[in-house]
Amino acid sequence: MISIRNVSKWYGDFRVLDGCSTAVGKGEVVVVCGPSGSGKSTLIKCVNGLEPFQQGDIRVDGTSLADPKTDLPRLRARVGMVFQHFELFPHLSVIDNLCLAQIKVLGRSREAARDKGMALLARVGLAEQAQKHPGQLSGGQQQRVAIARALAMDPVVMLFDEPTSALDPEMVSEVLEVMVQLAQEGMTMMCVTHEMGFARRVADRVIFMDRGAILEDVPADQFFAAPRAERTREFLSKIL
Ligand code: ATP
Ligand code: MG
Repeated sequence: MISIRNVSKWYGDFRVLDGCSTAVGKGEVVVVCGPSGSGKSTLIKCVNGLEPFQQGDIRVDGTSLADPKTDLPRLRARVGMVFQHFELFPHLSVIDNLCLAQIKVLGRSREAARDKGMALLARVGLAEQAQKHPGQLSGGQQQRVAIARALAMDPVVMLFDEPTSALDPEMVSEVLEVMVQLAQEGMTMMCVTHEMGFARRVADRVIFMDRGAILEDVPADQFFAAPRAERTREFLSKIL
């Protein structure tokens, strides 16, 4: 579903991604971890075309991001993205947040968008909050709305960039539960997260990045069980 081949990216002289290669199969859940500044966000932003890269190729469901003929907005509409900060539209109600892109980008009728939006809000446990504005919700609720909004576009993959790291601790699990459920339903997911409990429960593979390079890319059980690179051990000893 996602194939990343030898991707490198520079900011001036600084190489932020260094020959990254990996793949995420349909229905697979891959967790990306690593120290601050290692390039995790940059890699994930490259996957939905939010950041250009200078070398290599990324394909999403067969569409090449390096190909200048690729219609990026069209591709982006099929890739769900959830960031650390929820980035909901503050002036719109929760349900209108879910409807906007369905109507504007996918051309759905207002009624169809609303039905889909309400069904997704129910799924993330927020049907009663549909008429509220994002500012009236807790951080955990806002992040669940952000997930529902991404799902409303019927994405082929979901990308997450530290979706729980800005939340108060008591709200982390309600967001992780939604992500676990998604994973169990077979969604293809690439998640930057340091929530190793989540990784243990649903990740098929764990990728460890350091200084722009993928140092490890192994089955999750192996990542947690087997001896690994010194750099990974040192990092894990800090977060576990
Ligand atoms: P964190 O865990 O803190 O979120 P990260 O692994 O997501 O870190 P990135 O945000 O991908 O790391 O950043 C990787 C490196 O690229 C960092 O050293 C960062 O300072 C640098 N960087 C990011 N954006 C830019 C930019 N627009 N211009 C120059 N350097 C940048
Ligand atoms: Mg980041």
